Formats: sequence, C-alpha cells, structure tokens
Amino acid sequence: MIVALHVATGAAAGAGTGSRLAALLLGPILHLAGDRLPHEDIRSRRFEISSGLACLVLLAARRGLLDPATLGAAASSAPDLEHVLPSLRPRGSKLFHGRRGWHRSGRFPADLQLLLAGAILGGLVAPRSRGAGESRDLR
Ligand SMILES: [Zn+2]
Repeated sequence: MIVALHVATGAAAGAGTGSRLAALLLGPILHLAGDRLPHEDIRSRRFEISSGLACLVLLAARRGLLDPATLGAAASSAPDLEHVLPSLRPRGSKLFHGRRGWHRSGRFPADLQLLLAGAILGGLVAPRSRGAGESRDLR
C-alpha cells in the first residue's frame, strides 16, 4: 500500500482514539492490515518517500508533533522504513514485509489510494469548523 495512505490511516486512527499510546500501538497493525488488502504499489521510491514525508510534516505542522494523529501516522508508516534502511534488518530479513505472502498485490488502484489519503488528511488538517464547539459541548 502506498506510504501516503499508511500515513493517512494511522492519522485517522490516532485522531479517532485521541490517545497517543493507542495511536502508537495501532499504527503497525494498521500497516499490516493495509498491506494485506490487494493493492497496487507505486514503483517510484522517491515519490513514496517524498509524499509520505510531506503528509507527516503537514500533520505535525497543523496538529503538533505529539498529537495522536501525528504519532499514529508515524507509527503506521514506520514499517516501510525497512525498505530503505538496511540497518533495520540486520539479518537480512524484513520484519513487516518478510513473511512470504503477507503483502498482497491487487486491484486497489494507486491513484485511488492517493485520492483517499488526500481526503482523509484534508479532513484532519482542515481548520475547525464553526460547529466544532457545539459538538464538543455534547460530549
Ligand atoms: Zn508496507
């Protein structure tokens, strides 16, 4: 699954739970769940890294570095670091992507994943609407 969507789903989980701990724990699980969905990947490593980083920076800038959404996004996308950092797999095997058959290629189009990531992140970094104060009073 593309990195940007890993970032977005982790961010949504973090924002949804509102808990930093839950965000950090759910992140890697969401990563595995996302990779399990039959999906297309983007071949360009450069695009994957830069788009993922851009999404993380945006979240951190708009919500704060330690916001559950930002932490969830980092935790959910972190497993893909083992593709680019050999030191994370000292014995040559990948922890999250090593098991044969876990990662599924399939029909979930990469551009749709990108669109979805943008929609989720857009909702998470958008300025609070006027109704937000009212709904907070109902909790
Ligand atoms: Zn992955």
